[in-house]
Amino acid sequence: MAQDHNIPPKPSGKPPGKPDFKVDPKASAAPAANFLRAIIERDLQSPGWDQRRFGGSPGDAAHHAAGALDVARIRTRFPPEPNGYLHVGHAKSICLNFGLARDYGGVCHLRFDDTNPEKEEQEFVDAIIEAVQWLGFDWNVNGASHLYNASAYFDFMYRAAEALVTAGLAYVDEQTPEQMRANRGDFNTPGTNSPWRERSPADNLKRLREMRDALHADGAMVLRARIDMASPNINLRDPTLYRIKRATHHSTGNRWCIYPMYTYAHPIEDALECITHSMCTLEFEDQRPFYDWLLEHLAQLGLVARPLPRQYEFGRLNLSYVVTSKRKLRALVAEGIVSGWDDPRMPTLFGMRRRGFTPASIRAMADGTGASKTNIWLDYAVLEGCLRNDLEGQAPRAMAVLDPMPLRLTNWAQVFGSAEHIEPCHAPAHPQHPEMGERHFGLGPQVWIERDDFAIEPPKGFFRLFPPQMQADGSVVPGSKVRLKYGMVVECTGFETDAQGRVTQVLAQVLPGTKSGTAGADSVKVKGTITWVGVHDAVPATVVLYDRLFTEAQPDAGGRDFREVLNPRSRVEVQAFVEPALAGVAAERHYQFERHGYFITDRVSHRVEAPVFNRVTTLKDSWGG
Ligand code: ATP
Ligand code: MG
Repeated sequence: MAQDHNIPPKPSGKPPGKPDFKVDPKASAAPAANFLRAIIERDLQSPGWDQRRFGGSPGDAAHHAAGALDVARIRTRFPPEPNGYLHVGHAKSICLNFGLARDYGGVCHLRFDDTNPEKEEQEFVDAIIEAVQWLGFDWNVNGASHLYNASAYFDFMYRAAEALVTAGLAYVDEQTPEQMRANRGDFNTPGTNSPWRERSPADNLKRLREMRDALHADGAMVLRARIDMASPNINLRDPTLYRIKRATHHSTGNRWCIYPMYTYAHPIEDALECITHSMCTLEFEDQRPFYDWLLEHLAQLGLVARPLPRQYEFGRLNLSYVVTSKRKLRALVAEGIVSGWDDPRMPTLFGMRRRGFTPASIRAMADGTGASKTNIWLDYAVLEGCLRNDLEGQAPRAMAVLDPMPLRLTNWAQVFGSAEHIEPCHAPAHPQHPEMGERHFGLGPQVWIERDDFAIEPPKGFFRLFPPQMQADGSVVPGSKVRLKYGMVVECTGFETDAQGRVTQVLAQVLPGTKSGTAGADSVKVKGTITWVGVHDAVPATVVLYDRLFTEAQPDAGGRDFREVLNPRSRVEVQAFVEPALAGVAAERHYQFERHGYFITDRVSHRVEAPVFNRVTTLKDSWGG
């Protein structure tokens, strides 16, 4: 078995914008190296590669022989089983398969591996299609769709089984499951031949047809390949090809009561579709000899086209601070720990989308990890870094006050002649993109500021608001002067508290003539600038501050129950105020809230009249270790 689950590196303290891809220390390849590219490039140069034929749709050897030269220079596939929602690990596989096809002038098939009856559901099929499209990939190439269902190949799979039986390469085994297990042997002991192994091809064929025709009970017998019970590779000790299972299949209904095993079905699916490079994760490495054995024999029998697909294994992508096993994800949903499969803390593609991760950021993360022969643990901070890289240059900026406290400018009426006066202010939607336009908002006598932008007694190095300080010698140091960003400089003069001593309002005086963008803007030097929103034009909004769901990088390490390391602050909902430019925004729009991070209007609960913003990530990695 391939080695798995190396200890994750500590969370990175690197500044944002510089993702350092944490690759397994044992991996010799440089970051983002992709050994599959070298293989593809070699194959593209190999003699006869451009003589491959494709029948225009999946099919047997004759179908493809009658077809035209394949216009796709390579064929890859992403083959999900439609029994759950896709997660970040699947995104890795999608980006790899579709990305390599794109880069080398090939085609990637989206194939639903629906050979296992009962477990598949249309809901998952639809969700997978939506997720792959959202990630930015397409299986429609030059007007042809390459979306396939493996269950459409059941007839061929059965035909291939009869051919193997006839050729003496497969037999019906009537041992009980216990006998089969006992006779398989183990790593140190060769297996023992089944008493049914020497039955004649004619007898085997009769039995196989009886299996197909529902003349035997579920589990009474199986079809096995006839390879070598003493093989050092246990997967070659006469693996099972077909089992009897009376189950209704979501697309073939009750037509079949025998179903192929995954290890038999998968190589055939690849061959019928003329896949050239069949990429899978490392745990399938030991299956490759059977993959090759099966396809070589089916090609010799004239059933599948050459050249045969080749299987290549790459390391799984694991992301720190998440769990990706379907069972554990299901438990999170079922136990109400999260709100559903698309909860913004879930590592499902629907969850990540709702959280605000962009397709480009996920693709960058996948491409940045390349492909190697070891499973990798990727630091969650790397994914966040990819998101920041993507959004930095394009997300409109906005001011938002997440923990609002009022600031009153006590000399306002005196300076402007009226307590109703509103001073118009503006700011670029994006500092590097003037073409994105300007935001407009007003400064009035009352504004909302962040509660922690004020301190009664400022700690050392605190450059935001604090009131005048009485010194030991009785002298008074004046209150701080700060700029209200894009507005004017104010000088803190005092504060008010409630009966419990909690600050209810900060008092300050506006310094006339200091407005940003005017000649006098620099007349008063300040050490601090704070964000704010005018009380008169603030838009109330719900802001949900999402954070990692777990406090440990490997929540389920060493068999630990992941419920023990849930982050109690993974979802904090606050009532905030945002600037008026954000009134009426649509769902699924990204913003950078200045000083706070990246946010997105929630796909599900956002309403124009009741906005909801999700925090995707902060501006800096706050988990640096
Ligand atoms: P799981 O067993 O974790 O629930 P799965 O492998 O059963 O996932 P499939 O639907 O069979 O899910 O996966 C589709 C493809 O995605 C497979 O080719 C599989 O190898 C790949 N894949 C799944 N998880 C990862 C991962 N963590 N990293 C890379 N590829 C992955
Ligand atoms: Mg699987």
